[in-house]
Amino acid sequence: MLQGKVALVTGASSGIGRAIALTFAREGAQVVVSDVDPDGGRQTVAAIAQQGGQASYCAADVSRPEDCRLLVAHAVQTFGRLDVACNNAGIGGDLAPTADYPDEAWQRVIAVNLSGVFYGLKHQIAQMRLNGGGAIVNIASILGQVGFANAPAYTAAKHGVVGLTKTAAMEYAAAGIRINAVGPAFIHTPMIERLENDEATNAQLVAMHPIGRLGTPQEVAELALWLASPRASFVTGSYYAVDGGYLAR
Ligand code: NAP
Repeated sequence: MLQGKVALVTGASSGIGRAIALTFAREGAQVVVSDVDPDGGRQTVAAIAQQGGQASYCAADVSRPEDCRLLVAHAVQTFGRLDVACNNAGIGGDLAPTADYPDEAWQRVIAVNLSGVFYGLKHQIAQMRLNGGGAIVNIASILGQVGFANAPAYTAAKHGVVGLTKTAAMEYAAAGIRINAVGPAFIHTPMIERLENDEATNAQLVAMHPIGRLGTPQEVAELALWLASPRASFVTGSYYAVDGGYLAR
């Protein structure tokens, strides 16, 4: 589905981003694996090579505009162009009610989860305009649609990602750049494993999903792949949940 394409994935050293990088590569893309964690990044690159694909690691902290510019430049220098980008890097942040939420924690979550997507879009769009088009998938969350007590920064950032996705999609649709958002519910990754530290919490999380379990990174990757591929050629500016029925409650 992505034969001949060049893709970049942020936060690709772990969890959902790693699954997306492996899936894009499985479908023929050359993939730039980006993250702040070089060890995990190298593991993702090695796993892609093992399945017969081509990948390159590029360190980038998405909260830094210059890193986002250099990441796109790395894709062009290494593989010649940029066709697909997945802005996936994100952090959970502190858990506290709004009035008690620490300012520094708020600023960090917004910097990574919202500003990081903005900086990514800026440079990815500029490069895709030179190529004559492309597809961008932003990883939001179900918490880009509904609130979640004790996660004010995370829910604000993810709602922001959905709004930014719609606006940028309108601006660049005529330039052949499709931009969509994916909203996972709770997915088994290191981010959630940090929360699921006891059976009661795990049972509570599972109970929020009518399907009766949490999702897997691969289930998110398959949706991201479809949105990034030419099969979604008439799809832009939309939010797609992959949530085991979470939002249907
Ligand atoms: P994860 O396993 O923690 O992976 C996130 C990766 O991003 C890690 O390798 C992390 O590195 C990296 N990262 C953190 N800050 C970064 C930065 N400033 N720049 C570049 N990379 C950075 O998390 P995940 O669960 O796969 O989450 C991936 C995305 O899905 C996030 O946007 C998250 O909000 C979203 N999401 C997750 C779930 C879920 O239930 N898991 C649900 C909805 C949405 P370090 O480990 O070194 O920090």
